[in-house]
Amino acid sequence: MRISFCGVRGSTPAPGKDFVRYGGHTSCVALTADGDDAPTLVLDAGAGLRKVTRMLDGAPFTGTILLSHLHWDHTLGLPFFAAADRADSRPTVLLPEQDSGADAVSVLTGVMQPPYFPITPTQLRGQWAFATLAPGEHRIEGFTVLAREIPHKGGRTYGYRISDAHSTFTYMPDHCPTALGPGEHGFGEYHPAALALAHDADLLVHDAQLFPEELAAEADFGHAVAEYSIELARLAGTHTVALFHHRYTRTDDELDELARRLAGDSPNVIVAAEDTQHEL
Ligand SMILES: [Zn+2]
Ligand SMILES: [Zn+2]
Repeated sequence: MRISFCGVRGSTPAPGKDFVRYGGHTSCVALTADGDDAPTLVLDAGAGLRKVTRMLDGAPFTGTILLSHLHWDHTLGLPFFAAADRADSRPTVLLPEQDSGADAVSVLTGVMQPPYFPITPTQLRGQWAFATLAPGEHRIEGFTVLAREIPHKGGRTYGYRISDAHSTFTYMPDHCPTALGPGEHGFGEYHPAALALAHDADLLVHDAQLFPEELAAEADFGHAVAEYSIELARLAGTHTVALFHHRYTRTDDELDELARRLAGDSPNVIVAAEDTQHEL
């Protein structure tokens, strides 16, 4: 499969000259199956979702948008996905089953309706389908998808493990392991759901919003330190970890410094950058 980083920021977009090389769009990763030209499975609908339209090169989107959770930075691109907002599109949106039992359309309408936004999700053009997803293993767009609940803050959040016949990709953009305790290094617990999702994966895309010196003051916002991502990958036997969901204030120079500080061979560490692709 091919992984395309369309948006790598957390919380809010980060435009401007200090954010050019890593990019300013919020969370969105597109997956293209082996043998396909265009992505059919998109993880999260942050501002980066606009980039998937360009990847489709004039074609309508037929596929699934899989949401990790409902926070703004993971949904705000939905109404601006031009390849899906057209009469001949066939998008499906899947989101975590809610504790309240609310259906997918009601949940999404919560972030997209007047007076907060001009239209509701069901007013987008095309043949849209909306559904909730239970934890567990599913077959989606030809991929095997394992959904497990992971700690974050404010709303149920899933991490996803996505496999085809020969590779595995794990996506945990928003994760607060300190919610379960300090763990061995003070960066949070290496808990069973995180280890199962990342086990022997070829690529782990993981929350790296915080630097260690920020953890004490900001852990309550629901995110992880970059160091946790790397130790999780090491414990889980992951080949490569991509640091993701960069804080919106983190400049290109600061992310270069992060890459230098945490570079390693086992696991291989990369700092996710918008408009880069990875073949698994
Ligand atoms: Zn987020
Ligand atoms: Zn979040």
